Amino acid sequence: MVVVMKERATEAQIDAVIARLVESGMDVHRSSGATRTVLGVVGTGKVDKGLIEILDGVHEVIRITEPYKLAGRTFKGDDTVVIVDDVRVGGDEVIVMAGPCSAENEAQVMASAAAVKRAGAKVLRGGAFKPRSSPYSFQGLGEEGLRLLRSAANTHNLKLISEVMDISQIDLIAKYADIFQVGARNMQNFTLLRELGHARKPVLLKRGLSATIEEWLMSAEYILSGGNKDVILCERGIRTFETATRNTFDISAIAVVKKLSHLPIVADPSHGAGRRDMVAQLARAAVAAGADGLIIEVHDNPDRALSDGAQSLFPAQFDRLMAELRIIAPAIGRSICLEPVARRGWAR
Ligand code: PEP
Ligand code: MN
Repeated sequence: MVVVMKERATEAQIDAVIARLVESGMDVHRSSGATRTVLGVVGTGKVDKGLIEILDGVHEVIRITEPYKLAGRTFKGDDTVVIVDDVRVGGDEVIVMAGPCSAENEAQVMASAAAVKRAGAKVLRGGAFKPRSSPYSFQGLGEEGLRLLRSAANTHNLKLISEVMDISQIDLIAKYADIFQVGARNMQNFTLLRELGHARKPVLLKRGLSATIEEWLMSAEYILSGGNKDVILCERGIRTFETATRNTFDISAIAVVKKLSHLPIVADPSHGAGRRDMVAQLARAAVAAGADGLIIEVHDNPDRALSDGAQSLFPAQFDRLMAELRIIAPAIGRSICLEPVARRGWAR
């Protein structure tokens, strides 16, 4: 960090700041100009920026390294690829995860899984434990939902991602799902994040409703520092003053995360838009912006869905979107599942 002293800081004040920094285990390099003194501070000691800022004579303290270490590019320059058997998130292929918001019943889960597989998704999404804003809304089927999702994923050769809301659910969800999803509302549930740091399965960490990118990366740091290196970030829209969409989909977060972190990032245009007539536009933009994957809500009968029906795509809409993404991805050197094309040709 750099400590900039006030113009009229006295020698005694400068000495006191230096002494405090040295006491904290830091090396201090002093540079005194005509009007101001600037202190360059390096080392491995622990310094509380706020405690230095309030010392007498200090004008400003500027941090020059990021507070997250394991999640940052300084720590690891190469992109992380999260591997789930034959599915690689963060490689050349854009991975699409799709399925209903919640598992509701066997027929719905099976039909939705069949539809997303046919269109080229690699991972089935679906919640069994739902973080609903109202306690009176459908809360999910619990273990029965996980059972239905796993069985549909197996039938259609898909991997499975499902949300974990609490540490008490980790072992149960690990029995069924391949990837844990941490929802936006739990991005700063540090007890949960710490525990997932010891889990042996990848974690998709959604950005909190009002979280800055730095706070989001610090949450990833909780998981990484526990020893779990397989973290996938997910931009799902943030809360702003705008009310036309459910959330404001922060497309620039994709570019920022790619610059700051080696972790893969996927985009969730469904929660970003909140309405199905805008999901495709955001999905296309996310892939063009460099997202490593997408997570999209698709339901076999969205108008009857028990959660997030308005933003869930009909299978035919999802199929069309996948065809469009197959044209966009190569423009930026990426690929996207070509199996449906191989099966039926480009023209349908
Ligand atoms: C979901 O994926 O259905 C969900 C609840 O998402 P979020 O945590 O982003 O609101
Ligand atoms: Mn949802």
